[in-house]
Amino acid sequence: MDRKVRVRFAPSPTGPLHIGGVRTALYNYIFARKNGGEMILRIEDTDSRRFVPGAEDYINESLGWLGIQFDEGVREGGPHGPYRQSERRDIYRRYVKQLLDDGKAYIAFDTPEELEKAREEIPNFQYDASTRMKMRNSLTLGEEETRRLIDAGEQYVVRILIEPGRDVIVNDLIRGEVKINSSIIDDKVLYKSADDLPTYHLANIVDDHLMEVSHVIRGEEWLPSAPLHVLLYEALGWKDSMPEFVHLPLLLKPVGNGKLSKRDGDKLGFPVFPLEWHDPNSGEISSGYREKGYLPEAVVNFLALLGWNPGDDSELLSMQDLIEKFSFDHCSKSGAKFDYKKGIWFNHEYLMRMPDDKLADLFMPVLARKGVDGFDKEYVAHAVGMVKGRADFVDDLWTQADFFFKAPEEYAAKDVKKRWSADTPRIMGELIEVLEGIDDMTSANAEKIVLDWIASKGYHLGNVMNAFRLAVVGSCRGPHMFDITELMPREEVVARIRKAVERIPAPEN
Ligand code: GLU
Repeated sequence: MDRKVRVRFAPSPTGPLHIGGVRTALYNYIFARKNGGEMILRIEDTDSRRFVPGAEDYINESLGWLGIQFDEGVREGGPHGPYRQSERRDIYRRYVKQLLDDGKAYIAFDTPEELEKAREEIPNFQYDASTRMKMRNSLTLGEEETRRLIDAGEQYVVRILIEPGRDVIVNDLIRGEVKINSSIIDDKVLYKSADDLPTYHLANIVDDHLMEVSHVIRGEEWLPSAPLHVLLYEALGWKDSMPEFVHLPLLLKPVGNGKLSKRDGDKLGFPVFPLEWHDPNSGEISSGYREKGYLPEAVVNFLALLGWNPGDDSELLSMQDLIEKFSFDHCSKSGAKFDYKKGIWFNHEYLMRMPDDKLADLFMPVLARKGVDGFDKEYVAHAVGMVKGRADFVDDLWTQADFFFKAPEEYAAKDVKKRWSADTPRIMGELIEVLEGIDDMTSANAEKIVLDWIASKGYHLGNVMNAFRLAVVGSCRGPHMFDITELMPREEVVARIRKAVERIPAPEN
């Protein structure tokens, strides 16, 4: 294959980009980068009734967040623009005319009522070779009458003329050869005079051709349209430069059967959109991966493995790794279950591997939200570094590390009961003296001194250490105690022990 790789992502701005669409964009991007090719963003906005304001910006912002970049598009510009289909009317008109002139398409005037009537009267009605001569179109009315109706202002559509009884072959790089008979394809509408715009099918083919697209990589739901597209390439005389087709496997429900839907996400508590979406019409808010605290790298990694595998057992793959390893040979034909828990796992892995200072940057806004300030970034970085192994999301860092930023207000009753005895206040008093006498609070050094003191007094190691922890953390959880006291200012540690002694009522012996 010596053709330059050019791919396109061609969303319709009809609402928020679904996570399946994000995966399609990702595979296009990875494939283009792998092959030193180019990637186009084309906005398919020919269906004005389904247009939703804000959807185009949402698409741009989502893909930008994930690091999916375009070489040509509405924002990037490029030699094949405009990249918004609603701005390409003149171009489409030219090809509608060509198809009509060549007898590959015809004009039809049937009203919705007439079509409804045909559906009632003719069993399994389909507008095709078996029925078209019973309908109101240029083939039955003749040229003159057709002209007259158009001049009189009657609205019409242009339909492709499908020849029945032919095998149509779609070569798909994942599915191989898909063969269907043209008799089952109807004379699809290619253009509507009412809004002077082509339908998806024609616009798609014209643009893919003019934009020199080499590979059409899209979701499996478009496979049924592919035979029609092959016939359109033929009708337009472009068969030799037809792109390769790649239909990606469906994303399936995490449990049960069928296609992943927004309802699955609502039910099980995971987002099906990359970013939070505020519906401009209903006001409804749908959750997004970004706002839920997912890292873009984790989302990319997770999505890439839904329907593709690297051929070995590696799982943690950066965008660069994906670009190196990707090929359609390892894409599956069958649908991929949307294992959202695996997405959480990926997030955890990426969070854990993130350098502490970067993680601190992400955590600072959480601190601000909690009304905490006055901590420098280095302190925050150390704190989150100690607890990141226990967090799936940035927000979880607060649950794990809150005590680094504020003294406990309460003490876990269960731990108090188990670890705070009548002797504890006295022992804590001694501990304060020991701590104040330490020159070097480095974890290992402080640990040795404190443990030696416990041993020399014959105290119960577990009880003393847990009471210590209870006073500083508020419960018996958290990282290594002496790592905590290495980071936290000694006065703060001491103040917390004093406060605990004051607050926790000593039990009767
Ligand atoms: N506009 C279509 C969509 O919304 C594009 C399908 C295709 O890639 O051909 O997905």
